[in-house]
Amino acid sequence: MTDPIQHPPLPASLSEAARRGITGRCPRCGGAGLFARFLKPASHCHACGQDWRFQRADDFPAYLSMFITGHLLAPVIIVLVRETSLTPLALCAIVLPAAMALMLALLQPAKGAVIAAQWWFGMHGFTKERIEDQRWDPGR
Ligand SMILES: [Zn+2]
Repeated sequence: MTDPIQHPPLPASLSEAARRGITGRCPRCGGAGLFARFLKPASHCHACGQDWRFQRADDFPAYLSMFITGHLLAPVIIVLVRETSLTPLALCAIVLPAAMALMLALLQPAKGAVIAAQWWFGMHGFTKERIEDQRWDPGR
């Protein structure tokens, strides 16, 4: 049996690492949760031992959440303004809660993706680990 700390199933690409981070899993191995609390990453992965204290996501996940929320809600707002006769207050009563809910829903996935990218590129003290020299074999 291989040692999971020495031989984790490393992601084949940045998108696979990001997908693991977006779903709240360890970007390195996908074997354990990335977050200890809503936006607080675990100090280390319980499956592969990766130290997550090097992450410096800072405000970037919030910017990503705002960017995505704005782009998703802009067409909705345009349709509501053009196709309905809602008052500005009614429009705010619909759009603001939707924006807040979407922002909160996107915050943790965005942070997971940012941490995954930082790990993938070896930023802030993370060790750059790639499996480029290994051939990915799904039957293994
Ligand atoms: Zn892990």
